[in-house]
Amino acid sequence: MARIIIIGAGITGVTSAYALLERGHEVTLVERLRYPAMETSFANGGQLSASNAEVWNSIATIAKGMRWIFRADAPLLFSLRPSLHKYSWLGEFLAAIRSHRANTVETTRLAIAARHHLFDIAEREGIDFDLSRCGILHFYREPASFTQARRGNALLREGGLERDEVSPQEIARIEPTLHGDFCGGFFTPSDSTGDIHKFTTGLAEACMRRGAKFLFGGDVSGFDLRSGGVSVRLRKDGAEERIEGDAVMVCAGVASHKLAAMLGDRANIYPVKGYSITVLLGDDASRAAAPRVSLLDEDAKIVTSRLGEDRFRVAGTAEFNGFNRDIRADRIQPLTTWSERHFPHMSTRQVVPWAGLRPMTPTMMPIVGPGRHSRIFYNTGHGHLGWTLSAITAELAAEHLEKGLSGDIAPGH
Ligand SMILES: Cc1cc2nc3c(=O)[nH]c(=O)nc-3n(C[C@H](O)[C@H](O)[C@H](O)COP(=O)(O)OP(=O)(O)OC[C@H]3O[C@@H](n4cnc5c(N)ncnc54)[C@H](O)[C@@H]3O)c2cc1C
Repeated sequence: MARIIIIGAGITGVTSAYALLERGHEVTLVERLRYPAMETSFANGGQLSASNAEVWNSIATIAKGMRWIFRADAPLLFSLRPSLHKYSWLGEFLAAIRSHRANTVETTRLAIAARHHLFDIAEREGIDFDLSRCGILHFYREPASFTQARRGNALLREGGLERDEVSPQEIARIEPTLHGDFCGGFFTPSDSTGDIHKFTTGLAEACMRRGAKFLFGGDVSGFDLRSGGVSVRLRKDGAEERIEGDAVMVCAGVASHKLAAMLGDRANIYPVKGYSITVLLGDDASRAAAPRVSLLDEDAKIVTSRLGEDRFRVAGTAEFNGFNRDIRADRIQPLTTWSERHFPHMSTRQVVPWAGLRPMTPTMMPIVGPGRHSRIFYNTGHGHLGWTLSAITAELAAEHLEKGLSGDIAPGH
């Protein structure tokens, strides 16, 4: 048994805590905010989507991005302001085009493997998170992007995903509330949706019941590394504190980049901002007019999830603009307009806007494994798929940690 300090109580930190508790370790989780899941794991798109596993490192995505760059309401916004981190990240993103196939296939495998872990945890711990095994429908307006998507679909199939092409008539049958002219799409019945904030909060409570200690309001500010352990410095309630552990697991989302630098590691994570709206379905007509199946509009890069009876989540946009967390009205409006166009009988009278920063690596692969120091481990950098992947990467990170510490820690320590 080892004493593990986890940094960050988003989905990656809390699933890591659970995986380590299951293996019999003692867990202390430090979170700088007052509650779990208040940053990127708060109001995301809700999709548990192996069908969205294709990494963005491709010539086709770059070409699309170049067209979007000059459109004010485009799904991509790239601030040209100079930033060494942003441009070096971009250089590595371009270099990873050569790994597009391998990384897409691997992400698909991980996303499929994650499903049963997540469902098992929720069932074992009795977590209600508005899970819906509704499947995900991808649809296209432009024939050229549909043709391109068939190539991506072959990679998803190589990764083990069953995903069928559907005609415009089948789209209408699968989701009758959806209005619009589409040339075709893909349907993945095995994908699902759920509320990441409800799940993470429920799992944090389960971890506490199992003996984990949560230090909320604790902002990690430094480390002292020794051969036999780690001492973590933090600021809590205006005072400096220090906690001792056998190992540290960094799960700090977009802040992992800075923390890794303090630890002598490089975790090249850039904050890629996205937005969501949660439409509150306050009347029977709106509840009937909002979709049940989860959607991905590939041309607008918008995802949707029905969260229970009364909420409809719509998310999108990739904004490269540093750590700015402002909720911009001109980025929220396209999500509302899109919802009104495709679900004209659903009221958008009550809409809750949100913005979050995706912790994105240039390869779009999460960082899971040991750092340079034998007592430092990472489970971070999950980008646009953290909800989908965390249940499996937590298992993998826990395995790495046990392997790394094996022989190094006395039994029963
Ligand atoms: C608009 C949008 C839509 C998305 N849609 C989907 C989707 O449909 N499906 C999907 O799979 N994924 C989706 N994602 C991605 C997913 O939400 C993220 O990958 C995931 O939430 C990241 O979780 P995390 O634990 O890495 O980070 P976070 O949830 O941000 O958690 C990190 C935690 O670390 C804490 N922390 C940071 N620094 C310190 C410190 N020094 N000391 C102590 N604590 C610290 C922070 O306060 C935070 O709570 C979406 C993201 C966005 C923005």
